[in-house]
Amino acid sequence: MNLTVVKNATCTFCGCVCDDIELHADGERITETKGACILGQAWFKNHTAERLYPDALIDGREATVDEAVEAAAEFLHAADMPLVYGLSNVTCEAQRQAVYLAELIGGVIDSHTSL
Ligand code: SF4
Repeated sequence: MNLTVVKNATCTFCGCVCDDIELHADGERITETKGACILGQAWFKNHTAERLYPDALIDGREATVDEAVEAAAEFLHAADMPLVYGLSNVTCEAQRQAVYLAELIGGVIDSHTSL
């Protein structure tokens, strides 16, 4: 089995964009992530190009995107203090829309990096 080493890889997970990470891969998976924090390690080692989930879930059950959007709107409308949370690995445009949504519903916004 060949070991591939990539020096100065860039992690795009949280937005800090660390660009000094060394990755080791065995042909199928990334096996080592030198210099990445615990979030970066998890991202590099556990994300694949495989399609593991359906487009949308409601309470763990497969749903269409339209059904999920409707359910999300109902949850947010009923919430006392809605939280818009996550936002890793999303585009600037999606983050802009998340901020707009948080303002619209009188909620708060946070990213996973506050962990
Ligand atoms: S998740 Fe960690 S390694 Fe990746 S960019 Fe953020 S701080 Fe850097």
